[in-house]
Amino acid sequence: MKKDTKIARLGRPHAKDRPVAVNPEIVRASTILFPDMDSYDAAGKEKYTTLRYGRHGTQTAFALADAVAELEGGYRAIVMPSGLAAVSASLLAYAKPGTHLLVTDNVYGPTRNLCESYLRPLGVDVEYFAPRTGAEIADLIRPETVAIYCESPGSGTFELQDILAIASVAAPRGIPVMNDNTWATPLLFPSFEKGVDISIHAATKYIVGHSDAMLGLIVCSEATWSTVRNMVGLLGYSTAPDDCYLALRGLRTMGLRLERHQQNALKVARWLEARPEVAAVHYPALESHPDHALWKRDFNGASGLFAFTLKSNDHEAARRFADGLDYFGIGSSWGGFESLITLPHPTRNHEASVDDRVLVRLHVGLEDPDDLIADLAAGLTAQFK
Ligand SMILES: *Cc1c(COP(=O)(O)O)cnc(C)c1O
Repeated sequence: MKKDTKIARLGRPHAKDRPVAVNPEIVRASTILFPDMDSYDAAGKEKYTTLRYGRHGTQTAFALADAVAELEGGYRAIVMPSGLAAVSASLLAYAKPGTHLLVTDNVYGPTRNLCESYLRPLGVDVEYFAPRTGAEIADLIRPETVAIYCESPGSGTFELQDILAIASVAAPRGIPVMNDNTWATPLLFPSFEKGVDISIHAATKYIVGHSDAMLGLIVCSEATWSTVRNMVGLLGYSTAPDDCYLALRGLRTMGLRLERHQQNALKVARWLEARPEVAAVHYPALESHPDHALWKRDFNGASGLFAFTLKSNDHEAARRFADGLDYFGIGSSWGGFESLITLPHPTRNHEASVDDRVLVRLHVGLEDPDDLIADLAAGLTAQFK
């Protein structure tokens, strides 16, 4: 079955011998009733994949988790109440006092906060590796290394890790590779083919796709499944079935939306690249991106989020530029149908495309790209000419 067919068919009932609605039911529950003690006890061994108690999910959550796990090529998935919850549960499943954790330097800011404000004080030795790392990760691995955490492309500056090379070093040593795959979704980066063991998604972004729900997903290999599931169980996360329903609904059109996001983002990115005010555009689908060849090798496309560095270091002008735009909303998150702008200030330990100059992050939505370009052109001319 091809990906687009999977997207249309996974995680929903099919009318084999009884009439059914196209979409799965929203099953709201705390208590699930069992016919007898034996079946109740048996369900306790399969939490998060079969009905047991509302906290561990109902049919609506299982439908979404199963659909995404199969789409990405993982063993099983677990639905989480936010993307950050998916990040933290995955890290907490492995990072214990006295362990060593390798984290890419271009990791999502709140993931870095978790590492600095909680894991490090807990006694986890967190080490950030250069965001454009591949097989050289071998030099950083120690006996107490418990996981390698990737985000490719990473937040803010969009460098890629060579995950295939990292996994080829990690797998023989039994070290799980985690990857925040939010930017690419299961459609544009086939995590498990590339050696990822735990794929993390802020489903809030492209899977939900309409800026109207918070959701996370952790997709696991068979070897990592019980460790992750047990940690989620310990922490007590629970995800609303209504939000799972919205995510499944969003998923149905994700392939189509991503195609248009890429088309629009490429047009805007190419236009920005040619502007005199712009120093560099950080979008892996551009030939000028330092990891473009790696992106072509490993990804099936690009989504609509990227950043660019201005030649100017006038941060006040940048704020006026953002304030003056008509079609780019100012706000957190991305992956919805609408265009957004933020002015990130990412933290880096390694040399990277972050300096005193203005960094602008755009989410290019599904509007007509010519309108978006006209909006940006007016703003750049007004503030930076
Ligand atoms: C937004 C985001 C998250 C967190 O997701 P939430 O649903 O907002 O908690 C994690 N990773 C990346 C790369 C993100 O962009």
